[in-house]
Amino acid sequence: MRRHTHLCGALFVALLTLSFTHPLAHAKENPTPLILSVQNPPVPFIGSDGNTHLVYELWMLNFSSGDIAVKSVEILGDGKVITTLDSAAIATRLQPAGLRTSTGSLSKSTQALLFIDVTLPGGAAVPHQLSHRVTTFIAAAPPAFQNLIETGGDTTPHQRAIAAIHPPLAGNNYISADSCCDSVRHMRAAIGVNDHVWLAQRYAVDWEQLDSQNRIYSGPREKLESYTIFGKPVLAVADGTVVSTIDGLPEQTPGKYPQGISLDEADGNSVILRLDDPALGGHTFALYAHMQTGSVRVHVGDKVHIGQVLGLVGDTGNSIVPHLHFQVMAEPSSLSANGLPYAIDSFQITAAVPDTAAFDKAETDGSPIANRAIHPLRHVENALPLDQLIISFPALPSERMK
Ligand SMILES: [Zn+2]
Repeated sequence: MRRHTHLCGALFVALLTLSFTHPLAHAKENPTPLILSVQNPPVPFIGSDGNTHLVYELWMLNFSSGDIAVKSVEILGDGKVITTLDSAAIATRLQPAGLRTSTGSLSKSTQALLFIDVTLPGGAAVPHQLSHRVTTFIAAAPPAFQNLIETGGDTTPHQRAIAAIHPPLAGNNYISADSCCDSVRHMRAAIGVNDHVWLAQRYAVDWEQLDSQNRIYSGPREKLESYTIFGKPVLAVADGTVVSTIDGLPEQTPGKYPQGISLDEADGNSVILRLDDPALGGHTFALYAHMQTGSVRVHVGDKVHIGQVLGLVGDTGNSIVPHLHFQVMAEPSSLSANGLPYAIDSFQITAAVPDTAAFDKAETDGSPIANRAIHPLRHVENALPLDQLIISFPALPSERMK
C-alpha cells in the first residue's frame, strides 16, 4: 500500500513538475491531468424567465492516476468571469460517464460531464468565446502540486436559428415537467448510441395536465382515463414534413414501470416532423412520443400544417403515466441527435410547482399538486418554457368558437 502511494506521488511529480518551453512556438506547456472539452457548443436561447441561457456540458477526463476534487469552475466569456460554480454547485452537476448520479470529484482514470447553464439577462450580449478556469485538489500529489488551476474547454456559442414554434397542445393547466435547465431526467440523459454520446433530450419536456382541482389524475391510478391529459390532441408545432411515425404499440399500465422495452419501442407511438421553416435549413426536427395506440393520423412524407392534429396523448413505450414527451433536435432521431432549444410563440404561466419532488408526489398519489399561483398571469412570447411551470396554451380553434 505504501509503495503504491509512493508510486502515485512519483507519477504526479513527473507530470506536474515538467513544464517545457517549446523551442519554436515559445509556448509554455502546462500539465493538465484534467482534460477539458465541450462536444456541443451551447445554442443561446431565451427562457420563459426572460433570460438568455447557454446550456452545455463540459467534459472532464481525469487522465491521471489520482482522484481529482473539482473545487471551482469559473466560466469565462471573452476572458471575463461570467459565472462561478463552487464545490457545492459542482457536486450537484458533475455526472460520471454512464451514471445518473453526481459527484464533486473525478476518480482516477475516469470521465464525467459537468452540466452548465449560464444565465445572462435577456438582451445582454452573448460572448463570442467561452472558456473555463478549473481549480482542483489532488490529494495524491506531493503537497506543492496538490492545488492546480487549469484553463480550457474553449468553445464558441453556436448562433444558429432557434425553431419558432406553436404549442404542441391546446388548453389550460399543463405542467412543463423535467424541462430546462437544472432538472435531471432529460437534461442529463447522455446516452451512447452508434459510437457517440448524445443528449437528444437536452430540452425535452414531459407535458402533463391538471384537472380543475390541480390533480394529474383522479380515480384509479392504473386507469388511463383517470389522467387529465389522456386523449388530448397533439398538434403540429409548425408547418413540416412527417419523417417518421410509429403506431400500434400497446398502452402501458399507469403507475408501473414498463419492463423489457427495447430502444426501438422506447418512444412508443410517435411522430417526427422536419420543420419546414427555411431559416432552419432542414436540420431541425420535432419529436412527439408516447401517443395513444391507433391515434397517429399522419404518414411518412405527409406535409402538415401548423396546429394540425397529429394524434392523441397516450401512455405507450417507456412511459409510466399518460404524458406527451416533446423535444426538438438536429437529426431525425429521438436518441442519436443533438437536442436543440426552441421558442414557443405564445403561452401564459399561471403558477409554478416548487420542485420535481412536488411534481412526483402529485403524479404518484393523485393529490392536488403543490403550487404557487402567479399574479398577474404572466404572458410569455417566443421563449422556451422552463421547468415545473403551470401553463395555459391557446384553445383549439373549434373550442374557441363555443
Ligand atoms: Zn420524457
